[in-house]
Amino acid sequence: MSFSNAILTYHSQNVGGADTRNNDHTALRADLEALTRAGVRVVPLRRVADALEGQADADTLNGTVCLSFDDGCDFDVLDMDYPGHGLQRSFLGIMRDFQARFGPEAQPELHATAFVIASEAARKVIDARSLFGKGWISDHWWRQAEAAGLLAIENHGWDHNHPDLTPADQDRGGFTSIDSAEACRVQVELAAETIAERSGRRPELFAYPFGESSAYIREQYFPQFAHRHGCRAALGTKPGPVTAASDRWNLPRYVCGRDWTTPEGLLKLLGPAVSV
Ligand SMILES: [Zn+2]
Repeated sequence: MSFSNAILTYHSQNVGGADTRNNDHTALRADLEALTRAGVRVVPLRRVADALEGQADADTLNGTVCLSFDDGCDFDVLDMDYPGHGLQRSFLGIMRDFQARFGPEAQPELHATAFVIASEAARKVIDARSLFGKGWISDHWWRQAEAAGLLAIENHGWDHNHPDLTPADQDRGGFTSIDSAEACRVQVELAAETIAERSGRRPELFAYPFGESSAYIREQYFPQFAHRHGCRAALGTKPGPVTAASDRWNLPRYVCGRDWTTPEGLLKLLGPAVSV
């Protein structure tokens, strides 16, 4: 099997203006249109997991991209006013607008994966300290989004090991410190169980918070404890294409704003990956 796919990452809380350079909503809308014009197909991320497990026709993934949204802010699915920057069309709304405008055949497999934080208490603290304290990292939309089919709800850890959280006796603000069986159990398994209760489906993909991972979680926990975590692939944020040779427990991803800032930049970045 051989293929080259690219996983793109957007953050719906990245709103600092109205330009593709400073607004991930503007970027997503422009990128979807540019990718489609360039003949690049969007496919669900789970299809990449199928291919890496040898269950799918990997060749059909060549030159495709996947969309992923990190942190699960309500801006993923709800049109809301972003303080200082006005009403923002949600990521899900942008996908629906695209389908309405260009028809279902323009991107027949249009789909995105939202990586959400499981712990409600942690989300409240992060929301209060790093967002606006308005309850905008909620979970009331997970079940409906999952059922509607355009968006999969997957695992971004129990609490992101976020620097806003206490107790500070734990090494916060990174994910390389998650390097023991117990820490992995909480961040992956407890998170998966909690997300499943609220989304209606147990997650099977994990995105490392901060894109960081310990050797233990990559090389021991994920490969050896599949019967416990039920996960099929884990994703970091090292930029690069996904190929048959990629490490299934640390798949590369490109991040909007860091790796590209315009649709032209994105196509250039994908050049080798999307050339069929
Ligand atoms: Zn994150």
